[in-house]
Amino acid sequence: MDLELLSRTLSELGEPSYRLRQVWEWTAAGAGSYAEMSNLPRALREALAQAVPFSTLTVEHEAHASDGTIKALMRTADGRPLEAVLMRYRDGRRSLCVSSQSGCPLTCRFCATGQMRFGRNLTAWEILDQALHFRRITEVDHCVFMGMGEPLMNLDSVLEACRRLPDLGITHRRTAVSTVGWIPGIDRLAADPMPLRLALSLHAANPALRSELMPVNDRYPLGDVLAACERFYERKRRMVFVEYVMLGGVNDSVGQARELAAILDPRIYKVNLIPYNPTDVGMQGSTPRAIDAFREELERHGLSATVRLTRGRDIAAACGQLAAGALSSEAAIAVGAGS
Ligand code: SAH
Repeated sequence: MDLELLSRTLSELGEPSYRLRQVWEWTAAGAGSYAEMSNLPRALREALAQAVPFSTLTVEHEAHASDGTIKALMRTADGRPLEAVLMRYRDGRRSLCVSSQSGCPLTCRFCATGQMRFGRNLTAWEILDQALHFRRITEVDHCVFMGMGEPLMNLDSVLEACRRLPDLGITHRRTAVSTVGWIPGIDRLAADPMPLRLALSLHAANPALRSELMPVNDRYPLGDVLAACERFYERKRRMVFVEYVMLGGVNDSVGQARELAAILDPRIYKVNLIPYNPTDVGMQGSTPRAIDAFREELERHGLSATVRLTRGRDIAAACGQLAAGALSSEAAIAVGAGS
């Protein structure tokens, strides 16, 4: 819901200022339409339904995985595709993974989104509407900006959306912004009063290998990025998560674990090893044995390291598999087969 359009419309209609809050309270609590907002006059509900679309997004396709994960392919009003995911864990956690951009301007070699064309930055309302879509299905309590796009290249909208997430039940402490290492954004995030978490996609300690996997490393070299993360830590006193996608025979040797341990201060960083989800770029995930050996080597150096649970693999909703083109053609095939 575009809250700026809503606010303008309410004042054009001569409505008192508390109406904005009323509409938002219903929306953030998971209402499905203006019609449900029983403390608003009927005529006003009807006028709003005409003037302010209830969501800035339309859901084109929704896939349900056997583990309870739901992936939604959505489109903006101007037709840009994006994806968002709801993950439900056994311990009751309900976590959202949202997109900050349609497509991504960065070209990380292993990432499905990196292979599709960049569309544009999403607005704060388009980010919030992803979360609201799932809020209408269930209560939610965590959010990660790990969908499509680089959130720190669209930080104004990301921060505007984050300011409102607590109204949906997601506190700032349970919200994580993930970055390739976009230094100006890391510094702005550190200066912002919201206690958001920072996650850094690192993937290789060796500079040449990191540049090969993530060309952005030429612009913002890892040493400078880690210095920015350390400034973040100084300011916020919140540990930084390091994401490390495990690529078989590429970045997963015990020697490479040692190189990683050598550059990370265990008081500042926690490592999250991500089993690679194959896309169609021809890279392979590491074996479970290699992942274990890598984790053990990090722990031997005093680093805390965990292996990420994979969710939604059977619907291509897992990390780095978000590429709207693939899903929409799948959906088209499904529709075609049914007709
Ligand atoms: N641009 C930001 C936000 C995207 S987060 C960033 O890169 O951090 C997406 C996370 O999933 C990143 O850590 C990314 O490296 C990882 N990822 C990308 N492709 C993947 C794949 N195929 N399998 C597992 N993880 C992947």
